[in-house]
Parts: sequence; structure tokens; C-alpha cells
Amino acid sequence: MTPMVKADRVCKNFGALKVLKGVSLEIDAGQVLCLVGPSGSGKSTFLRCINHLEQVNAGRLYVDGEIVGYSERGGKLYELHPRAAAKQRRDIGMVFQHFNLFPHRTALENIIEAPIQVKRLNKKKALERGRDLLEQVGLSEKADAYPAQLSGGQQQRVAIARALAMDPKLMLFDEPTSALDPELVGEVLTVMKDLAAGGMTMVVVTHEMGFAREVADQLVFMDAGVVVESGNPRELLANPQHDRTKLFLSKLL
Ligand code: ADP
Ligand code: MG
Repeated sequence: MTPMVKADRVCKNFGALKVLKGVSLEIDAGQVLCLVGPSGSGKSTFLRCINHLEQVNAGRLYVDGEIVGYSERGGKLYELHPRAAAKQRRDIGMVFQHFNLFPHRTALENIIEAPIQVKRLNKKKALERGRDLLEQVGLSEKADAYPAQLSGGQQQRVAIARALAMDPKLMLFDEPTSALDPELVGEVLTVMKDLAAGGMTMVVVTHEMGFAREVADQLVFMDAGVVVESGNPRELLANPQHDRTKLFLSKLL
């Protein structure tokens, strides 16, 4: 089976700053991978490379068997035409720490924007699907509310629905609950848990170890641009092998 994501010694620098120094990992379709590690270790950069927001400098990154941003012919890489890159990107949903909703659009308008503009879905169908998605994230009543009228947890659930509206085959979450008041974290994690149970392939950067233990198939601990260790979340959390992992986990508790 082709992995949904395969990173093979991925490197990324910003000028002289080496941020990713050979990250390798694989995620099968339908799996959830939680990516954890100290601030500055390169977690967001790695997600951004998957989602075409950054370009890798060396190594190879594949989504569903295709090299991200390139095509390969005769062992050589050619940069993809922007249109082909946009097509790859369309299949990937991303949810950020700071929801990033359009402030002057209602919840439902936020959700139907991309399907109409990018996928050319007709408005009636987009609205139908948008309402279904709002129901899925428990916000049927909030279709006409503006982001400012919603709690952080509700805004993040709208952001998840908005990403799902493009029918992605892969969902990336970058600390989706880190900006939320503690009492709102659970409602967002519940939506993510349901999504995982429904078979969505997910890469989740999070400090929520309870979620990782319960939902993830694979836990990857990253530090200073490399994967320090990875494995079954329960085993890794119960018995971390590396001092850096032990130190990081001890600080979370
Ligand atoms: P994490 O998400 O694990 O906290 P990041 O991937 O955000 O880590 O950042 C890793 C390092 O890369 C940090 O030192 C950060 O300052 C740096 N960095 C990230 N994006 C850029 C950028 N666009 N230009 C320069 N440096 C960056
Ligand atoms: Mg980050």
C-alpha cells in the first residue's frame, strides 16, 4: 500500500538556519500521527512543507505517492506547474492554532467559500454540504453567526468544517487547541476524535498527550529538526527511550 505521507530525509533551511535535518516518517491511509516536541523543533515547518507553504531543500516528501511540488522523470525532479501544485494542495486540509476564519463572513459562508471558488461547486450543493459539516462539528445552530460571535472552540470547529469542505484525503492540525481556554479544548478534540474514527488520515501537532495516547496510531517525538523516536503512543509515553524525550514529557506533566 502506498503511504499517505512519506518523508524521506527531508531537510529545510531558512538561510543558514537548518530547521529540518533529515526527517523520515511514514503514515498509512486512515492513520493518525501525533507529532510532539519542544517549541522551535520544526514541527510547524514540517507540516508547512507537506502543505506547499514551504519547499523542502533536500530529501523527498510524498503525499499519496506523489512528490510534493515536483514531478519525477528519469530520476530527475521538475518543479510542478503552479496549477498542478495547487491541485495537490487542494487535497490537503490544514487547521491552524489561530483559526484564521474570514471575519466578515458567517460560519456557513466561511465553509462554502473554497468549494465554490476553487472546486466550482454550485452554491446550492455547497450550502447543503456546508450545513452537513456544521452538523458534524456540532454547530448547526451557528450557521449565520460571525466568527466574533463564536467562542474559540466554536471557531476552531468551524475551521475544521471549512477544511473538510474540500474533501481532503489528509488533514494537518498545527496545535489546534493551544490558543483555547482549557474548558474549550475538549469539544475540539472530540470533533477530531470523531474524524479519526471515521477513517481520516491525520497529522496532529499537539501537546495533548491524552489525545495522542487515545487516538494516535503513531507518536513521533521531534527535537532540533530530527525525529528522536517514534512508535506506539502508549508504549512511547510509558517507556521513552531517549533522555530528550523523557525531559520533554516530564515538563508537560
Ligand atoms: P515548532 O513548530 O516546532 O515550534 P517551527 O517549525 O515553527 O517550530 O520553527 C522551527 C525554527 O524555524 C525556529 O527556529 C523558527 O524561528 C524557524 N523558522 C520558522 N519559519 C521561519 C521562516 N519563515 N524564516 C526563518 N526562520 C523560520
Ligand atoms: Mg509550531
